[in-house]
Amino acid sequence: MVQPVTDINGLGAEKAKLLAADLGIKTVGDLVQHFPFRYVDRSRTYAVAEIQNTGTEIMLKGVLQPLVETGAGKKKRWASRLRDTTGHIDLVWFKLTQWQLQKLGELSGKEVHIFGKPTLFNRSYSISHPEIIEDEQSASGLMPVYSSTEKLVKRGFNARFWQRIMQDALVRYAPYMEENLSESIRHELGMISYAEALRIIHFPKNQEELHAAQRRLKFNELFFLRLSLHQQKLLNSHGLHSRAFKEVGSYFMDYYNEHLEFDLTGAQKRVIREIRQDLGRDVQMNRLLQGDVGSGKTIVAFLCMLLAVDNGFQSMLMAPTEILAQQHYASLKAEADKIGINIGLLTGSSSAQERRFLHEGLQNGEVHIVIGTHALIEKSVQLERLGLVIIDEQHKFGVAQRAKLWQKADWVPHVLVMTATPIPRTLAMTLYNDLDSSVIDELPAGRKPIATYHKKESNRLEVLGFMRKEITEGRQVYIVYPLIEESEKLDYANLMDGYEMLLREFPRPKYEVSVVHGRMKPADKDAEMKKFASGITQILVGTTVIEVGVNVPNASVMVIENAEKFGLSQLHQLRGRVGRGAEQSYCVLMTPDYINEVAYKRVKTMVESTDGFHIAEVDLEIRGAGDVLGTQQSGMLDFKIADLQQDKELFLQAGKIADALLADDPKLSKPENAPILKFFNRYHKAGVSWSKIS
Ligand code: ADP
Ligand code: MG
Repeated sequence: MVQPVTDINGLGAEKAKLLAADLGIKTVGDLVQHFPFRYVDRSRTYAVAEIQNTGTEIMLKGVLQPLVETGAGKKKRWASRLRDTTGHIDLVWFKLTQWQLQKLGELSGKEVHIFGKPTLFNRSYSISHPEIIEDEQSASGLMPVYSSTEKLVKRGFNARFWQRIMQDALVRYAPYMEENLSESIRHELGMISYAEALRIIHFPKNQEELHAAQRRLKFNELFFLRLSLHQQKLLNSHGLHSRAFKEVGSYFMDYYNEHLEFDLTGAQKRVIREIRQDLGRDVQMNRLLQGDVGSGKTIVAFLCMLLAVDNGFQSMLMAPTEILAQQHYASLKAEADKIGINIGLLTGSSSAQERRFLHEGLQNGEVHIVIGTHALIEKSVQLERLGLVIIDEQHKFGVAQRAKLWQKADWVPHVLVMTATPIPRTLAMTLYNDLDSSVIDELPAGRKPIATYHKKESNRLEVLGFMRKEITEGRQVYIVYPLIEESEKLDYANLMDGYEMLLREFPRPKYEVSVVHGRMKPADKDAEMKKFASGITQILVGTTVIEVGVNVPNASVMVIENAEKFGLSQLHQLRGRVGRGAEQSYCVLMTPDYINEVAYKRVKTMVESTDGFHIAEVDLEIRGAGDVLGTQQSGMLDFKIADLQQDKELFLQAGKIADALLADDPKLSKPENAPILKFFNRYHKAGVSWSKIS
């Protein structure tokens, strides 16, 4: 089964060693799985008149003109021309072996195919070092190009050599290219066989054939990934015990019926039902709650925590920033007071005395709900009966930090992770496959979409005028400056310049301006935020510290300075700070007069859409899965041929088919599924376990 590459003709020990070192290719099977990364199209012959400056290699056919030698020494060149019925193109060589010289001489005046990349110079095209193809045979089809390394190329791994060893590898590997999908799946999808796909992927005759092979192999990757994720989920869902919240008791009912100031949206109700079902079991809940900014996740969290209280358990709500923790605390304390439950706050700036008091309350169970930042993970925080942990805006939390949460009790608490950064479906299906997911896909009634505008530096006066108008009407305005670590000093200077400009434009006593930034003491930040929240100041200038969760319903304008420096999800988060009240809200994206294409695409996406899921998809498209995730999780997405973004449809299809298969035959024990099981067992070890680390 494991044939070393040295079995292949032309691959000696030395070359084999290089292949293993540079590309990790050790066996014939590895070699067959080293798919071309592109193809050179020789399936079409161009006419000289058709040549365009596309930078790709093309094939031409014509009569080769006699070779002419020009220049001397280092400037020595050989030139020729290829002439067809539509015109001619210059051919140039800077170096020729004796053998090549002779060959070109012989071919002079004859009809040949040439292959190369035309480049435009002084308004005419030429090709340097074209490949001259004499026989019609090799002047057809798509030529595979393999990713290689400089070292390999130096040792003779040129295009021709790669093709030769692949041809041999395919022959030797043929007995092992067993079909690995069931007849019915292949039939349903109209897929070519696995063996055919492997052969064609290396030597396709035309685009159509290539496409069929690519589809088959991509499907395989996505399908088997899905199966292995499913298997993992089954493994993980056993054994982690949590306490069942069996009843919906008086705290929940009392609050829901007597104190909730608005009707829940249909989506909020549905999500609470989903969560309640999980909480009612003694198996740990691992649920991801996705809901766009302003969709009302906090109240859902609060109601879930009331369920915990009803069942005699404590809950923890963890926020990524101090400001957000304080805000959650302030708003939920008001609610908790209505029904007489105790709620505490713990952040980095809690005093020693506050801590002692809170620790005691948590330990003796008097405090039902604790809200805080990372400070909650400290060892000294002991909860008597921690039943539920809710993590808000999870993308700010490190995975490792979350792991520590488990050690709080003999059983593990249920976990709800809330995020306002929607995760594109494809990613959610792979990486969060073993987190169940609930989505609030509806905003509370009466919300007006935030009107978003792109304004350039030259429009600044207009923007200032607009701010004045809104403030005159009683509204408040956020102005956010970027804070990027590498240029922290510069950004700080920008922010301060902006602040001074605003003080001039919006002078006291008519206006008041607050400022918050990372260099301020938490207490000062807090004081400034409070002035804004209570309406004493009309303008809040700040860095992205105000990004997450801050809720000031009277603020109707969000001006984002240097919007080109922000990522899409950040822009979306920031924009979500306005539009929380009944008034029409606005978001103004300020950029310099000129910005690059990618930045423009981000700004345009924001102007055109307020749908967080759509924005997340575009973000994924622009940045790619690896960058969006930014952690070791993206290793799972190291596909050989599939691409999560480009092959999204196929991925969703593979997911559906895998799910249906497992629903029908969970252990893959039916004879017709034997090929799938065999391949799966041979090649797919379960990958990273998300549940264990999350
Ligand atoms: P997010 O999902 O971004 O955390 P919040 O929970 O902060 O959103 O909710 C935003 C605002 O909407 C809050 O002021 C909240 O009280 C209000 N809200 C939540 N649900 C509803 C609802 N069903 N009807 C009306 N207002 C709601
Ligand atoms: Mg929130």
